[in-house]
Amino acid sequence: MDLYEHQARQLFAEHGIAVPRAEVVDDADAAEWAARRLGGRVVVKAQVKTGGRGKAGGVKLAADAAAAALTAGRILGMDIKGHRVRTVMLAEPVDIEAEFYAGYVLDRAAGTFLAMASAEGGVEIEEVAASRPEAVARIPVDPREGVTEAVARRIAEAAGLPPEAAPVLHRLWQVLTREDALLVEVNPLVRTIDGRILALDGKITLDDNARFRQPRWGTEADDPHGDPLETEAAARGLNYVKLDGEVGIIGNGAGLVMSTLDVVAGCGARPANFLDIGGGASSGVMADGLSVILSDPDVRSVLVNVFGGITACDVVADGIVQALESVRLTKPLVVRLDGNNAARGRAILDARAHPLVHRATTMDGAARRAAQLANAA
Ligand code: GDP
Ligand code: MN
Repeated sequence: MDLYEHQARQLFAEHGIAVPRAEVVDDADAAEWAARRLGGRVVVKAQVKTGGRGKAGGVKLAADAAAAALTAGRILGMDIKGHRVRTVMLAEPVDIEAEFYAGYVLDRAAGTFLAMASAEGGVEIEEVAASRPEAVARIPVDPREGVTEAVARRIAEAAGLPPEAAPVLHRLWQVLTREDALLVEVNPLVRTIDGRILALDGKITLDDNARFRQPRWGTEADDPHGDPLETEAAARGLNYVKLDGEVGIIGNGAGLVMSTLDVVAGCGARPANFLDIGGGASSGVMADGLSVILSDPDVRSVLVNVFGGITACDVVADGIVQALESVRLTKPLVVRLDGNNAARGRAILDARAHPLVHRATTMDGAARRAAQLANAA
């Protein structure tokens, strides 16, 4: 889950990284009062979970409280890269002497976090990183050691940041590790004319697998801009990823589902999704899974590939039969059941004799059939 800038700032402040005073509001009147409290002159900043707000007109300086109201009114409701602005943050403006960039990002290939820092921070950081990669220092962090104050000094030096910025690198590492983040970024980190080091903008991506440890962010699915089917599947507690093919896939166990995707692709069709109903697949889970997959307009056939283990095949077959009661089957469904109680499971499906349900005995045969049906549809 990505945090809003104002939430990231809150975490920075809690870990001792200085940020300008600020308030968040959702209408122009409130903006005027907030600006007054902040001293009149303020920076008005759109709160959206995307970067490049400055370039999109979502970050504006207002000279006084009346101007802040006008500016907030203009920014509220704006669309920035598909994100509607619902709140703005008003921040005390600062006089910038230099803008830096600092962050940590998970480097999955290297199996550790990468420190990234540059003396050329600001809105052009992407261009700087692309045209002059040497201007951005990238330093792998030894996860056992972490970023101690000494390590922070080395990163600052390698990136050409002033030594006063080193404590921020150390504290930013604490934000990353203690708040269970996968990415933390400050851009710009600034030195003000009067010599203070302040984080003016922040981005934090939290590790969703650690949400249970960070209860303040809630546990509901976040991602209002994600795929609507994924959002619905997440709400039903399903492990679903939308893909761009035509064969809907349901299986039990991530490994089996992954190999099912491969086998379907090998049969000349493209999987429409990944959906793992897990070990203890009840009929309710099967019904939920089927209904999500069937509401995908791209799906032309559905392949259910289950290897009965802890959940026996007859239970899965019961689940499919019950799902057929609650979900209207509109597309052909190919079912392959093997493993524990396979014969009983197959008999249950055969007894139901739904005209759109096809049974297959092998995984390859099932994938071929589903691919054929999808390509014929
Ligand atoms: P982004 O475009 O989404 O990354 O938004 P930022 O919060 O990083 O703001 C973009 C740019 O606006 C920064 O790089 C700064 O140059 C400028 N800016 C933001 N806040 C202030 C401020 O308080 N004072 C001044 N002078 N400039 C600011
Ligand atoms: Mn920024």
